[in-house]
Amino acid sequence: MSIEEKIGKTLAVLGVSDAQGVESLFAEVRATMEAERQQLIAHGASSEKERDKACKALRDRWLARKGGLVSLIDENWLKKAAKDLKPIVGKKFNELRGFAACVEVEQLRALMHGPLDDGDHPVTPPPVNVSGQMLKAALSTQRFASAGNEFAPTDLTLPGYSRPLGSIHPITQVMREIEDIFLGLGFRIETGPEVESVYYNFDALNIPESHPSRDDVDTLYVDERTLLRTHTSPVQIRSMENYGAPLYIVAPGKVYRHDNPDASHSPMFHQIEGLAVDRDITFADLKGTLDFFARKFFGERIRTRFSPSYFPFTEPSGQVDISCVICDGQGCRTCKESGWVEVMGCGMVHPDVLRHGGIDPEQFTGWAFGLGVERFAMMKFGINDIQLFYQSDVRFLEQF
Ligand SMILES: [Zn+2]
Repeated sequence: MSIEEKIGKTLAVLGVSDAQGVESLFAEVRATMEAERQQLIAHGASSEKERDKACKALRDRWLARKGGLVSLIDENWLKKAAKDLKPIVGKKFNELRGFAACVEVEQLRALMHGPLDDGDHPVTPPPVNVSGQMLKAALSTQRFASAGNEFAPTDLTLPGYSRPLGSIHPITQVMREIEDIFLGLGFRIETGPEVESVYYNFDALNIPESHPSRDDVDTLYVDERTLLRTHTSPVQIRSMENYGAPLYIVAPGKVYRHDNPDASHSPMFHQIEGLAVDRDITFADLKGTLDFFARKFFGERIRTRFSPSYFPFTEPSGQVDISCVICDGQGCRTCKESGWVEVMGCGMVHPDVLRHGGIDPEQFTGWAFGLGVERFAMMKFGINDIQLFYQSDVRFLEQF
């Protein structure tokens, strides 16, 4: 009985009633498939067209969705198998399907390189290196030696698929590095919504209605009471409300401004803010912590300098400069000959802001800082255009 005839009948009709019978039947199918494949490869083709036609014919004979031998095996053997035989038939069928990848057109074509002169001789194999050929031989011996091995024959001499590995975006890298430093100091990471209410973004932070930053020239509004947050500071209020004091957090995330993109501006960028609230927190704690942070991030040689500034949500407020990483404080173009570069804003949390967070300013004090992640990344990696971070150009990203 030919294999087609057998596949046309159910296992019961064929008198197969045990695992051994199932296995030998599937072995016969595989042997037939392999023999037909070898014959096709050995026969070769006289033209590209003929080769494609022959490959497709063999493929369809076995793998056509309708009427292909594999699908008929599914219909007649697997689906109609007696209940106790189903597991072994299912297992063997799955193995067969894996094995049958060897009659896919691409696999066959790859082995039937180049048309022949007379079509009667085996096709000359493509030039391969010796080790590849030996490996192939070793594997194919093994394949036939161990019955039930589900590896489909594969031409190991073909070049592989290259799958380039990605890397972590420089912004994410810098954020993680900063987060790690503060995690090591006992801070925890908090996040909040990017679509924020006017209350959390401005009112609770002591930013009055008349403040220019609230204008729609500077801020992207969703509606009158909702906006895309302009800083990560709302997370400070939300965390104070949620956890009370004492509180040590860093809040990383995206923020939005109504800015036109250029080399130093982007309508979306990243900030990290820090907040420490506890009893007896002083400006000395703020200075000590940020000095430690700057040296951890930029290197031990870095010195910090604090100078007065103004923010509505801190009092007193300061700005933090670090000694220029390029010239080590000697003066260069990057630091405009001053030897210093501004990197952060900071200050003691305004008592009203603590109150808005539900914390009693008579008992607790706190400090906060905020920094732009892009700016840190640009200084760390020597990047001069902020837009490079958002263009997803692999030539840029693969450097990190
Ligand atoms: Zn400099």
